[in-house]
Amino acid sequence: MDAGGLDSDGRGFSSSREMWREEIGIGEAEGGSKRHEWYRKGIAYWQAVEASVDGVLGGYGHVNEVDVKGSEAFLNTLLPNRFGTERRHLVALDCGSGIGRVTKNLLLRYFNEVDLVEPVSHFLEAARENLALDGDSEKDAHKAVNFYCVPLQEFTPEAGRYDVIWIQWCVGQLPDDDFISFFKRAKAGLKPNGLFVVKENIARKGFVLDKEDHSITRSDLYFKELFNQCGLYIYSTKDQKGFPEEIFPVKMYALVTEKPKVASNRRAKTQRHKPAVIKS
Ligand code: SAH
Repeated sequence: MDAGGLDSDGRGFSSSREMWREEIGIGEAEGGSKRHEWYRKGIAYWQAVEASVDGVLGGYGHVNEVDVKGSEAFLNTLLPNRFGTERRHLVALDCGSGIGRVTKNLLLRYFNEVDLVEPVSHFLEAARENLALDGDSEKDAHKAVNFYCVPLQEFTPEAGRYDVIWIQWCVGQLPDDDFISFFKRAKAGLKPNGLFVVKENIARKGFVLDKEDHSITRSDLYFKELFNQCGLYIYSTKDQKGFPEEIFPVKMYALVTEKPKVASNRRAKTQRHKPAVIKS
């Protein structure tokens, strides 16, 4: 990623490489300890946050409903196309699940089993409590099954278990190299036809480094370059609508491991002979 970026204090970086070299010491001898510090500070930030919807949404608890509606509309465009219209047993993984907000309000309504992975233990405990009431013992009930207290950079999903791996508002905690290795490992966790959904804040250009929670907000182009390096293809995308104006725009990406056939080829063909706008 060549574009420059900013940090939350307004300082500029000429490239993401420069920023990562400073933050996690890529290419430096003490790289290991800087990376350790990056993650330690990120976790410390979240450990001090209240285990509530308002807490995990950074004081924007009121966007929960709009967020869930937007996600649900997107999921509804994906499920029939990927898994058919007949009811079958579906399994999802909620990554960086926090207190289980996405699992409770969305995933459990569509998936028979949902696993949660979250490194901050008081969030995961709250998730366990929030979701305990939702489970029941009926055959093929919808329930939260496994609760893994691990950060994504150390997590490997069980092979072939998931139809959907949902990653929302947490992948900015991972530097590019850990981002790429996580997705490469996690691909093996998908069932045939399975997919990733990534729902994240989007920077207008390059990236914005958040010095408080030690995360980065990437641009759409930055995400696309990383997905490409992960060997993932964009199946579809959607912009989240209806969020307050002062916050970052939010985008949803559905990602698959095989090159999508019809739709994108056709688009590529029609665009081949057209001039393209150069976006700065
Ligand atoms: N996805 C949830 C929570 C968002 S808040 C939701 O949309 O409601 C961001 C979450 O990322 C927090 O729960 C935080 O603990 C988690 N997180 C922080 N560092 C992480 C890491 N390295 N790997 C996975 N999750 C992380």
